[in-house]
Amino acid sequence: MENVIIIGTGCAGCTAAIYTARASLNPLMLTGTQPGGQLTTTTEVENFPGHPEGIMGPELMMKLQAQAEKFGARIAWASVESITRLADGSFCIKAGEEEYAAKTVIVATGAAPRHLGLPNEQTLIGHGLTSCATCDGAFYRDVPVCVIGGGDSACEEAGFLTRFASKVYLIHRRDTLRASKIMAERTLANPKIVPVWNSTVSAYLTDGKGEMRAIKLTNLKDGGETEVDVACVFVAIGHVPNSSFAGDLVDKDENGYILQQPGRTATKTPGLFAAGDVADHFYRQAITAAGQGCAAALEAERYLSEHA
Ligand code: NAP
Repeated sequence: MENVIIIGTGCAGCTAAIYTARASLNPLMLTGTQPGGQLTTTTEVENFPGHPEGIMGPELMMKLQAQAEKFGARIAWASVESITRLADGSFCIKAGEEEYAAKTVIVATGAAPRHLGLPNEQTLIGHGLTSCATCDGAFYRDVPVCVIGGGDSACEEAGFLTRFASKVYLIHRRDTLRASKIMAERTLANPKIVPVWNSTVSAYLTDGKGEMRAIKLTNLKDGGETEVDVACVFVAIGHVPNSSFAGDLVDKDENGYILQQPGRTATKTPGLFAAGDVADHFYRQAITAAGQGCAAALEAERYLSEHA
């Protein structure tokens, strides 16, 4: 029986592991399907304290993981399907053929990219439809591409893509960016980025081989439709929390974010804690996720000492 199992190895999970490992709780981390979490698909992180020159997202995650392992945290690859609470108050975690038993669980599974819900998008992912510029941007050199969204992610992706693409259309459903001021100003000053305001993508159009060829744009002000040639669409319209496996051990809001006790990381189930983007739809920063990971570790430690 593990003292603590941490599900997720992003900023929240790794920080929870550092703290629980240093408290001699010998934590086990389960990776989930995206080891290292969302920062592994980003480029430079400029706002993580302690890195005045910035740090690449994957490098930051490797360092956080190494720091957790240095204190004895163990990592297993596992895609968790369900958690149940047994009569003695312990937890059973199922992941494929594997079952794990733990006295406490910290859910730090983050969130996955949201898509528009257009009919052919599932078949187009990997064929000109993606949500990761870092992963796929270099495939699209000297061709036009587009980014959908108006937040920090969309601006960051658009800026990164200008290294490769001939032109980056930034398609946003309103006429002002949601992104932070510095990011918005940088984006709009970039001559390779062409903002397309008040517009939404109403169809993905493919060539004879099933690859992205163009998008159909609908102007939300006048309903007008246009077709724009793009070799790839980068979707950056937010995220959906990875919380479905937790079942009714947790309460969730209408968007699936796990509800924590006020000012805490505790959920409605004693011994089950939630940290980071799976529970936080408000801040959603690497550093706030790390902070919640720390808080969850401290709460789990206290819970274990009270239920020894
Ligand atoms: P976000 O801030 O929620 O922005 C999502 C964008 O997508 C918004 O502009 C939204 O439009 C648009 N959108 C949502 N649903 C849509 C739909 N169905 N169709 C078309 N457009 C849609 O998400 P994010 O950009 O991923 O950022 C998430 C958090 O991470 C934020 O707190 C952000 O500050 C942070 N972040 C920070 C950095 C950084 O500091 N370097 C980088 C990336 C992300 P509306 O504006 O109209 O709502």
